[in-house]
Amino acid sequence: MGNDGGSIPRRNEMVREKKRGEGADRQAQLAAMCSLCALSNEPLRKPVVGDGLGRLYNREAVLEYLLERAAPNGGGSSKACAHIRSLKDVVALSLEPNPARAKAGDGTGAPFVCPITMKEMNGGQPFEFLWTCGCVFSAQARREMPGTSACPVCSRSFGPGDVVPVGPVDTEVLDALRGRMAERAKERAAKAKSKGGSKDRPKRKHTDGGDGAESGAGSAAAAAAAAAAGPEQKRPKAQQASA
Ligand SMILES: [Zn+2]
Repeated sequence: MGNDGGSIPRRNEMVREKKRGEGADRQAQLAAMCSLCALSNEPLRKPVVGDGLGRLYNREAVLEYLLERAAPNGGGSSKACAHIRSLKDVVALSLEPNPARAKAGDGTGAPFVCPITMKEMNGGQPFEFLWTCGCVFSAQARREMPGTSACPVCSRSFGPGDVVPVGPVDTEVLDALRGRMAERAKERAAKAKSKGGSKDRPKRKHTDGGDGAESGAGSAAAAAAAAAAGPEQKRPKAQQASA
């Protein structure tokens, strides 16, 4: 029983094994992040949204999650995306379907590709999306246009803080993204304040009787989202007009 001293693996062998295993795990993890909804684990299908941490979701799954979260006893399975409190915490993504996968028709191949390089989004190389427009492309596509601050797909301008890598695992990157999420939340709050919350009709706040209160809060949030989206969409047009 105990006389198996000769078969004890040396430490460096173990480390090597572990590293190889981690590499494969990480690759599988990245591939999953590029093809499965981070909430439901179901294959990603349009409409797809992304969060500030670079995770991808089916929009439907996020809506279900938000409804559950809003319910009095809900939110039990929500730890993984506690940072998503409303649809303002995600951005609608434009993803290019993989033509090779459609041709094969047997479900092989990555679901999406970079619309610029046509490389598959399978975790093999870094992809990113822009918080401003939601376009998803390979990091290489943006590197090939150095110095520009226009989306390589739709040409809408963006700032350095608007670039979100898809499925990052490095803690440093994740910390930076969390910081950026907090900044965005602050910017939103400041915008909402400057718009004047006093115009809000107080009537909604009196429907404290269960369902009514929730749907009221939901529509208020939707209105706020629409108001927040409005000026952002108008700005580029105004710039074009003046140019
Ligand atoms: Zn774009």
